[in-house]
Amino acid sequence: MTSFDELVRHFERFPGIGPRQARRFVYHLLTEDPQSLRALADAIADVQAKVTECAHCFRYFARDNGNTLCEICNDANRNHELLMVVERDSDIPPIERSGIYDGYYFVLGGTVPLLEPQENIKLRGGALKGIAEMRAKEGLAEVILAFSVNPDGENTARYVGTLLKETEEKNIKISTLGRGLSTGSELEYADPETIKNALKNRT
Ligand SMILES: [Zn+2]
Repeated sequence: MTSFDELVRHFERFPGIGPRQARRFVYHLLTEDPQSLRALADAIADVQAKVTECAHCFRYFARDNGNTLCEICNDANRNHELLMVVERDSDIPPIERSGIYDGYYFVLGGTVPLLEPQENIKLRGGALKGIAEMRAKEGLAEVILAFSVNPDGENTARYVGTLLKETEEKNIKISTLGRGLSTGSELEYADPETIKNALKNRT
């Protein structure tokens, strides 16, 4: 296998990238100057050492001074009553940018596909239960489920709802984002107005 093909293989493993796009990436790299390529290679080599998962919400953050919590979980001024469960890290920036949510987050790590047997599920359900119980002692009143508006997202909401009912905390309200989000839409691509409406109309 040539180094060209090898790089194509690497890019093909990225989410949403097919063979044609992977080849375009490699052609693009061939036109870059050696300095930028070196910077890219260094950044890739460093990323796992410098970026780590937050111990509470599991989003990735830049590790410095041995911090175990990200800047959101570390911020005591956020609303302790709210915890929003999202599928992926990339769902958080658009919500933060909308500026209307000031509670905490939890990154579940994916969805529960409707047609997948439950035992294949590798999500952070156990960790979520632990965090909900911990946050309940700090005033948590509501868990907001913010999953994609599609059958898998709805199935995930059922799964998480059941999990949370197993906790000791019976007084936590469980809500889901309202239908301001159109069917099939993903949070990651939602605009601030849509997020605002979805939060306002949560049920
Ligand atoms: Zn965090």
